[in-house]
This record gives sequence, structure tokens and C-alpha cells, in this order.
Amino acid sequence: MKKAISLLASAIIVGGSTQIYAEEEKKETKESLEKKLEVNQDEQEKITKEIEALDLDIQEIQKKIEDTNNQIVSLDSEIESLTRKSEDLKIEIEKNEELLGERIKVMESNSSLGYLEVILSSESISDLFDNIYMVKQVVEQDRELLKTLNDNKSELENNKKTVESKKKEVESLRVSLENNNKTLNDNKAKLEELKLKLEQEENELEKEIEELTKQIVLSDEQIGVISSGSWPVPGISRISSPYGYRIHPIFGVQKMHTGIDIPAPTGTPAVAIDDGVVIFAGVQRGYGNTLMIQHDDGKVSLYAHNSSLVVSKGDRVQKGQVVTRIGSTGNSTGPHLHFEIRINGKHTNPMPYIK
Ligand SMILES: [Zn+2]
Repeated sequence: MKKAISLLASAIIVGGSTQIYAEEEKKETKESLEKKLEVNQDEQEKITKEIEALDLDIQEIQKKIEDTNNQIVSLDSEIESLTRKSEDLKIEIEKNEELLGERIKVMESNSSLGYLEVILSSESISDLFDNIYMVKQVVEQDRELLKTLNDNKSELENNKKTVESKKKEVESLRVSLENNNKTLNDNKAKLEELKLKLEQEENELEKEIEELTKQIVLSDEQIGVISSGSWPVPGISRISSPYGYRIHPIFGVQKMHTGIDIPAPTGTPAVAIDDGVVIFAGVQRGYGNTLMIQHDDGKVSLYAHNSSLVVSKGDRVQKGQVVTRIGSTGNSTGPHLHFEIRINGKHTNPMPYIK
């Protein structure tokens, strides 16, 4: 690009006939830059969509991670409760073992008393057998209970093992989800970096195109292809924001300002800058109530943010005729006329056309 500009510059210096040739080159350069800008903007749109799709994937994965976290928390509390139950059982088993041990000791010491003593200590033979039978019976019951308790305990421990292995599964699922999440975020960061580069390139392209447009307009004026019209707001000459790059008042970013802003109270009439035909009268996104006039020499003037439109599509208008009333519709911080000139569909500095 820089090379092209310096070539053009040297061509301009050479002389009259070369100047026309240089102008053609400028226009060609401008066209190729505009194509590049279009490709850039298409690419940005694609990347933006990809980032949006990634955001959805990331949201989904984060939801899944949250699910696994919740599962782990509930598995942990399950494990905790199983551990507690198993400990309680252990204590009960120990108590029962003690009890059983004492009974067995009593029984054994009873039987070691020897026949005579048992007989003597019992009031009758049947009483003696009853006593022995009862002791045996109780010991039997104790053994039974102890077996049940031990069975319960091993069942609990098995459950606990199952829950613990389930927890391990969920944890490894979480790890793989977190890895996926990281990959997605890495991809997103790369795309965002790429988008930023494209945005920078877009800004540079727009600046270069603007510069070329200015040069081309000046020479077109010299050739006299496009006639100049009158000022669009009679009686108000202040411009609050000129054509070109500026910090956008609403979005806070550096943006191309595609027209000029003329602040005026709501209802102030704006006039056609030249003879022409209304080709658009309606609401445009951001521009609010918008009027576009195609003038007889081909240039198009655009009036934005109007409170009302005085003429309709298809109307023939004359230079100086009231066409809109100024307002603050669309993206606007206060009542003003945003005025543009477009030549071959491209905005250009309107100042040379509204003397
Ligand atoms: Zn504006």
C-alpha cells in the first residue's frame, strides 16, 4: 500500500496528463482497498459467529462441570454417612462381642463347676437343665445378633466402596470436562486475538480509504463532475462532530464518523441541498427517521435522526425545500442532524458539497 501511494505521489508531481492517470490509479487502489475491507469484515463476521458458537459450548461444559461438582458433593455426604453408620456398627459389634465373651465365660465357669456343684446349686435336675439351656439359648441369640451386625457392617462397607468408586468416576469425568473447557477457552482466546488483528486492519483500511477518498473528491471537484449544493440547516452553521475518525459518543470506541453532525433544536427544518428525488423515507437502524435524496448529478444526500420526515419516497424535491425536521431518533445523544453525502454508494466528506 505505501508503495502504491508513493508511486501515485510521484505521478502527480510529473504533470497534467499524468495527473488524470494517477487519479485513475487512486480510484483503483481505493477499490482494491474497499474489496480488502469487505473481505476483512466478512472474516470478522465469521469469527464472531465462531466465538458465539464456542461460548455456547463453553456454557454447556461449565454446566456439566457444575453438575459433576454437585454429584461429588452428594457422593461425599453419602460416603460420610456410610462411614458414620459403619463406625456406629463397629461400636455396637464391640459391645456385643464383650457381652458375649462375658456370657461364654460365665457358661464355661459354670460348666467347670463340675456336675455335683451344678446339681447342688440347682433346686432340681430339671431346674439345672433349664439353667444350662437358658444360658446356651442367650449365647446362641448373641451369636446370631453379632453375625447380623457383622453382615450389616460388611454390606455397608461394600456400599461405601461402590460409592467411592462412583466418586472416582465422576472425578475423572470432571477432569476431562475441565480439559475440554480449557481447550475451548484457548480456541476462543485465539479467535479473539485474530479478531482484534482484523479490527486493527479494518481501522487502517478505513483510514487509507478515507484519505484516498478525500484526494479523489478534491480532484473530482476540480474536474467539476459533482455540483455543490446548499447548507442543509438554514441559520445554523455549527458542526458538533466532523466527518472522519472520532471516539463514538455512545460506544466509546474509535469509529469512522460517516457524516457531519449539526446540532439544532427538535423541529428545526432541514432543507434539500440540491434538486433530486427522494429514494428513501423511513426508519433505519441506528439512523432513526432517515431521508435519502438522489440528486441529479448522482450524489446522494442522507438526513438522519429526524423527528419527522416532510417528504415521501418518490417525491421530487428542489434545492432549499424543507424535507425533514431535526430530532434525536435512532442512536443519538441529543437533537441534531447527521448529514451524509454518498457517491457511488460510498460515504465521503460532505463539506465540499454543502457550501
Ligand atoms: Zn453523526
